[in-house]
Amino acid sequence: MPPSRFAAFAIALPLYRAFEYRIDDSEAVVAGTRYRLPFGQGTRTGVLLSVSDSTDYAAERIKPIEARLDQRPVLSEHMLALAKWMSEYYLQPTGEVIFQCLPSYLRGSRVYQSLRVKRWQLVDSDADVIDELQSRSPRQFEIGLALLRQPGGMTAAQLKQINPNWHAVVRAMESKQLLRWEWVDAAVNPVIASELPRLSDEQSAILGQIEPRLRHFAVHLLDGITGSGKTEIYLRLIQARLADGLQVIYLVPEIGLTNQLIDRVRQRFGDCFATSHSSLTEYQRYRAWDRFRRGEVRIMLGTRSTLFSQCERLGMIIIDEEHDHSYRQQDGVRYHARDVAIKRAQMLDIPIVLGSATASLESIANCERDTWFHYRIDHRPTRYPPPPIQLIDVRNSRFEFGCAAPTLARIESHLAQSGQVLIYLNRRGFAPVVMCHECGWQSQCRNCDARLTLHQSLQTLLCHHCGFNQAIPETCPDCGHDEIRHYGIGTEQLEQGLRSRYPDTPVLRVDRDVISSRDALKARLQQLQSGESCILIGTQMIAKGHDYPAITLSVVLDADQALFSASYRASESLVQTLFQVSGRSGRGDRVGEAIVQTRFTEHPLMQALQRQGYREIAADLLQERRLLGFPPCARAVIFRADALELKQALVKLEEIKTLLGQARHFERLASVGPIPALMTRRIGRYRAQLCLLSADFQALRSVLSQAMPAIQEIASSPRVSWNVDVDAYDL
Ligand SMILES: [Zn+2]
Ligand SMILES: [Zn+2]
Repeated sequence: MPPSRFAAFAIALPLYRAFEYRIDDSEAVVAGTRYRLPFGQGTRTGVLLSVSDSTDYAAERIKPIEARLDQRPVLSEHMLALAKWMSEYYLQPTGEVIFQCLPSYLRGSRVYQSLRVKRWQLVDSDADVIDELQSRSPRQFEIGLALLRQPGGMTAAQLKQINPNWHAVVRAMESKQLLRWEWVDAAVNPVIASELPRLSDEQSAILGQIEPRLRHFAVHLLDGITGSGKTEIYLRLIQARLADGLQVIYLVPEIGLTNQLIDRVRQRFGDCFATSHSSLTEYQRYRAWDRFRRGEVRIMLGTRSTLFSQCERLGMIIIDEEHDHSYRQQDGVRYHARDVAIKRAQMLDIPIVLGSATASLESIANCERDTWFHYRIDHRPTRYPPPPIQLIDVRNSRFEFGCAAPTLARIESHLAQSGQVLIYLNRRGFAPVVMCHECGWQSQCRNCDARLTLHQSLQTLLCHHCGFNQAIPETCPDCGHDEIRHYGIGTEQLEQGLRSRYPDTPVLRVDRDVISSRDALKARLQQLQSGESCILIGTQMIAKGHDYPAITLSVVLDADQALFSASYRASESLVQTLFQVSGRSGRGDRVGEAIVQTRFTEHPLMQALQRQGYREIAADLLQERRLLGFPPCARAVIFRADALELKQALVKLEEIKTLLGQARHFERLASVGPIPALMTRRIGRYRAQLCLLSADFQALRSVLSQAMPAIQEIASSPRVSWNVDVDAYDL
């Protein structure tokens, strides 16, 4: 046997261990490199973690690696260290965490090749040659002219902006020997726009405070009312970091209306940025990852997993709308991107900037503990402050497609003054309840404890949890009666109602059912951009992250459900949504108005909304959490199990609870369960949970570190599987 060493590999499996393989002594090994490994009957991709010269096992029983996939490691030492921390903190299997840190394109066995790009230049930069093209081929002339102005040449992406069919044109020009191309690996240098918007006094003051603190790790929370110009502060800070030759990661919530932001970043810094979000293909995201990694671009703008972008010279992380739920990954590896980002910044000794008009209670509590820098912005740079929230009492109202008469009157008044109206309704489809008028039968999902939603355009009843759908029955399946009715309002019905009532006003609906792509969204938003009078309706997609100055009225149709939710987070989420939605209006040169329909005007939360700002309400909510012993004043760890039968799930959790119970200090924790989960059956599986709650973080960590080694041995199977959720979002 040739001299060999033994190496530990991470494989993306829900197992809490590394896997050992034999590796040739002659092989130069670097941690973070991927290998193809024999595994069971087939092969698996593994990431090399470490090499040791000796092992306790008999050498011949350990299989050799099959092949190395990467010439260079795909994960840096820093990313491996971050993954290790995540795995320990969130109690997630190392292999799964490590693969989570890679773009999905590289999670299999595809070879990593640094992607260079082609750049085209004119062979002869004689203006006369180009002029000749003008009459014969206007399209070639157009590209020729652009290249004449860019003697350094242009990439495919740049040419595409001039002509979407650039490829054919460029090929024709190549065949005439007008163009030549070369491979480039060059950086796109930031071009800072020459004219910058004037800063308000508050913005200048805050920049003045943050800028001297950019050299080291610190968490900066920008707590500014809606429309207060936080983005401008981010852009100035990015500019400062770029000037130091550094790179920046800029995270935004999932989808949202980020086209505006992308345009703004481009206007400010040119093309020196890449974007990564869920409407891009796997390959496009991989390309963005690679461009940032090679330093070709300096800014990486994207959603949650963009946090795992690697580069040589990371100088700052920005997290906009830090309170947003989409930063929390709920499936697979469970982590919170904001919290991981803070850890990452700390490890690299770089600053992190969080921003929100409705900061999470977690962040507010952190500022109170005085470990973070807290900056307030209380004024909009534009003329009008965010509108106060007005309640519309709809107890005795007649409704038309979900809108009470006083609401319709406000809408009409704003349309008459050529304003734009935003209506928030967080319910897709036509109607949420379909019922037999005779016997009370309701359309239920076959796989979930949930009702099916009526989608009229699809002529179907659809489950929003598992996607199950069925035709709308003509008669009641239970009693045969033919009066099947629907109740409640979804965005589809609202759109239909508004269209027929206001035939001359464009009605734009934005939700997952109508927005399949970023381009579809963009087309819809152009209308808003134009400033013409229109109605925008939609789900949470329209609640945040956009800035259309012509919106003068925001309406929230159904806020009441959240008042009586079983979730302890419901009040926080509701208040955040209401302030975010109301803050979309009055950003231009006209005063805005914000109304909320409710049947419960006397409810303390509704009363508070009329009288107080977000910060005061948040302080009260935080106080309430403290009294109840809920996060962020305590930490929550939830073990969840799901199985084909409820009993199996409960038994699995009992097994886990027994092991936890053997740990010292277990009695210091509050534990609830095992109990069935709030929505017990989902996608055909029964779900249960066991919750640990404690304000004593050390006791909690200690119990977990004692018990986890034994718990990790409990196998998951397709029949019954379990997982653990640290800092669980909801109980
Ligand atoms: Zn019936
Ligand atoms: Zn379902």
